[in-house]
Amino acid sequence: MTLEIKNLHVSVEGKKILNGINLTINEGEITAIMGPNGSGKSTLSYAIMGHPKYKVEKGTILLDGKDITNKKTDERARKGLFLSFQYPNEIQGVTMMNFLKTAVNSQRSKPILFSEFKKLLDKNMSMLKIDQSMLRRYLNEGFSGGEKKKSETLQLAMLKPKYAILDETDSGLDIDALKVVSNGINSVAGPNIGILMITHYKRLLNYVKPNKIYILIGGKIVYSGGKELADHLEEKGYDWLKEDNKLQ
Ligand code: ADP
Ligand code: MG
Repeated sequence: MTLEIKNLHVSVEGKKILNGINLTINEGEITAIMGPNGSGKSTLSYAIMGHPKYKVEKGTILLDGKDITNKKTDERARKGLFLSFQYPNEIQGVTMMNFLKTAVNSQRSKPILFSEFKKLLDKNMSMLKIDQSMLRRYLNEGFSGGEKKKSETLQLAMLKPKYAILDETDSGLDIDALKVVSNGINSVAGPNIGILMITHYKRLLNYVKPNKIYILIGGKIVYSGGKELADHLEEKGYDWLKEDNKLQ
């Protein structure tokens, strides 16, 4: 099973950002996309999720062979697609507890028993070292950078999607929180999920090992390789690839 992105061209507010992305995310694998700021990483994640501002000009997105290019975001979510945001929204008036329960139930035909839900929640919260008091707070409101990323990772662990796109889950985390969040991602990873990790830095990839790395620059995949590519980038930065890109 795969999430396939074929020749994807995307514009935002009339500005062309992605210029023909080809990418396959396999179930059971971790795929990483790295790239400098402004290269279009978040645009790609929004486009895959179906954000209305991100207009697909050309190309297709196939989820297990089915064309979802023009489907609404909630339908994509019901089909098992999940996006963890680089900048999670604060949602006033909705407690974290209610949000998670609603999200879990939206994927089921019958609502989950509260006792079953709470057991799963407690297990995942202790894994992510999230304090119980956070459940009564409004979603992401006043959360620190690290708390927001843990909250996103908790959603991932509770929803267990078929394909997860994690946009800069490592940004704003100190080393302890980075380890906790990485541990959370690793516990969700497995044969029944395809993960796309988007990151600017190598450090997350020290803890969550990708099967393949793609490099996105200027809205195009300019290079791909195995996990050793991350070491190379750490040492050399992205500039050598930019030069390559200009020659093409
Ligand atoms: P990255 O995540 O790799 O840093 P982004 O996808 O956020 O890159 O941004 C790529 C380009 O698209 C940038 O030039 C950015 O300004 C532009 N862009 C992204 N989203 C929007 C938006 N909602 N409105 C206007 N420009 C946008
Ligand atoms: Mg981004």
